[in-house]
Amino acid sequence: MSSLTTTESVLVKELFVSSKTPVQCHFTRAVKHLELDNSVLILNGLGKAINTTIDVALKLQEKFHNTIKLDIQTSTADVKVFLALRLDDVAFASTIPGSYDIWIVFSPLFIADALCTYFNVIVLIRLYIEGHIKEAVTRTGLENMLAVFDFDHTIVDGNSDVVAIDLINPTNLVPNRKDFPNNWTQYMQRVFDIIKYIEIPAEQIIDVVSLMRPNDGMPKLMRALYENNVEIIVASDSNSLFIYNWLKHNKLSDIVSSVYTNPATIADSAIKIEPYTVQNKCNWCTTNMCKGAIVEEYALSTNKKYDKILYFGDGKNDLCPVLKLTKNDIAFPRLGYILENLLKSHTTPAKVIPWRTGEYIYEFLKSSKLISA
Ligand SMILES: [Mg+2]
Ligand SMILES: [Zn+2]
Repeated sequence: MSSLTTTESVLVKELFVSSKTPVQCHFTRAVKHLELDNSVLILNGLGKAINTTIDVALKLQEKFHNTIKLDIQTSTADVKVFLALRLDDVAFASTIPGSYDIWIVFSPLFIADALCTYFNVIVLIRLYIEGHIKEAVTRTGLENMLAVFDFDHTIVDGNSDVVAIDLINPTNLVPNRKDFPNNWTQYMQRVFDIIKYIEIPAEQIIDVVSLMRPNDGMPKLMRALYENNVEIIVASDSNSLFIYNWLKHNKLSDIVSSVYTNPATIADSAIKIEPYTVQNKCNWCTTNMCKGAIVEEYALSTNKKYDKILYFGDGKNDLCPVLKLTKNDIAFPRLGYILENLLKSHTTPAKVIPWRTGEYIYEFLKSSKLISA
């Protein structure tokens, strides 16, 4: 149903949007009218048609983004009316006598400018209802958060290097840890060389690691953080082949922004591992990796000021980054593991929340209103 009113210089058209007619049909009709100079379009949506009306209005705004103004009025809880005005020089130059009609039509528009945020609120609620939480959160400009995950015993329930070591049979071939003091990557290189010697292909080691069980609720937690616009990085003393392949196998690669770990490749049918770095600045950490420096460098590289850092870990090498957190941040040490114990005698300004499962962390973040469902 539509009607057309012609005033001295403004064309007003009212369109009643029904939920049964496709958005595209309403849109085409609306565009046709708005392409005329000095045109005013009133979209009426009732009940179920409110969503369709909003869709048409948003599409129109997208198409005419510089020349259109939207105004929303709700007369009752069930009714939303959109007024779309096509503006041009003539319209705004019409302060000359005789163009009073334009001022009558335009007067709600000036009020509408002040109510512009109201429109944003409606869009936010709608996105939220439809489950587009990520977009909704972006719109409100909520907290800028970074989540840092350790890999072994945190994302996965176990240690990937130990899984590799356990492939060595007979066990008397397992190299002695004491022969490689303070050098984990050299020790692991020896392990990989022996695995090659007993003729287990490198791909098989990676496959076994990829099948490691995640800690309960961890994938759900990571996906929820991602959906809530929280940036996710992984910092681990394992290696790139293990972590990338595990994330890929568990369909989590796309949600992780960066992985900081010892680089590894397959060469000559064996895994070759390199230290992530060589450092002696930090006494807390091993020479090949300071996770505290990784978190700082990541924040610098993204040029972002994070309002809150969430750190998830279990081990000794997670202490340094946790001690560097601020009072706005939260440390999540795994209950009963080394980090949790170390935090009894070391003080971090961050809030400390020990956990047993990813599910527990998910519920904590939800009840703290840091993430939506
Ligand atoms: Mg760990
Ligand atoms: Zn460190």
